[in-house]
Amino acid sequence: MFTGNGNGQHPGNGNRHGNLALPQFYFTIDCDWVPGSHVGLEMLLAFCERTHLKGTIFFAGRFAEAYPDLVRDCHDRGHQLGTHGWAHGGLEDDEDFRAASYEQQRRWIRQATDAVEKAAGIRPVVFRAPNLSIGETTLRALEHEGYRYDSSVPARRFDMGFGRVHYLKYFWSPLEPYRPSGDDLTTPGESPLIEVPPSSCLFPFNMAALRTLGLPMVQRMIRWIGRRSRHLVFYCHPSEFVYAKDQVFPDAMSKWNQKGMCPANLSILEALLDYVLNYGYTPTQMMETTVHQLDLGQPSILRACSFRSDRTYREEGQR
Ligand SMILES: [Zn+2]
Repeated sequence: MFTGNGNGQHPGNGNRHGNLALPQFYFTIDCDWVPGSHVGLEMLLAFCERTHLKGTIFFAGRFAEAYPDLVRDCHDRGHQLGTHGWAHGGLEDDEDFRAASYEQQRRWIRQATDAVEKAAGIRPVVFRAPNLSIGETTLRALEHEGYRYDSSVPARRFDMGFGRVHYLKYFWSPLEPYRPSGDDLTTPGESPLIEVPPSSCLFPFNMAALRTLGLPMVQRMIRWIGRRSRHLVFYCHPSEFVYAKDQVFPDAMSKWNQKGMCPANLSILEALLDYVLNYGYTPTQMMETTVHQLDLGQPSILRACSFRSDRTYREEGQR
């Protein structure tokens, strides 16, 4: 796979960050609680092996509980592990971290954290909220459960009725990783957590957009995002690579969405990865580059200088 830069132009060049600001690509996988979708995760792991890609994988606790060997396999292959709610997925009433009480949120987070720890022997410190529905209370709950990173705030995203983000509260949140304020997570502040926002250009930069809008449109999104941020955060779901008939969804789920689920989506994903690497992005993981990158931006606000990536890494028991 070509990893150079065809036209010598890195996204983000020409801004105040100069050449030090290597653009970072985060490949992330959200494992919702969808029985049968584990086959899709196996396919994604093989894809990552083939393309030498290390990602960050978020597990709903019940997924980790049902498929512990697979969770351990993800860790053994060098992917970073995070959590994604407890029973979030298709079958039960979904979890809403914006609406739930602090106690409830801590229970969900702890249950999921325990399930991943039991499976893989490490305690995750990276979180993504189900449906990217997050609030200031979630920040507190995460902090008190020992979390260090979150990747949930849907900056520059508004699904216009097609998806789940149908509010504008987080629209103007920062695009670069930042420490949110405990009073308002859309602004930089003093939180011990680092927010790494999932990328959007109105629509999310994810597999659903790739499947429905097509690669040329998503390439335009990447160029738009690249002019505004050095960080490009992509997400997909294992269920998107498995025929719907082989998975368990509630009856109410849209037939249109189920129709688009198939193993052939892996080839679109590979074309996307080729484009991203050709464009000059370097693959990275949640717990690695953001800490180092932060002090290139606004050190006085973000206070990243007190972090050392190696220290964070060991403390959390990831290696
Ligand atoms: Zn999810």
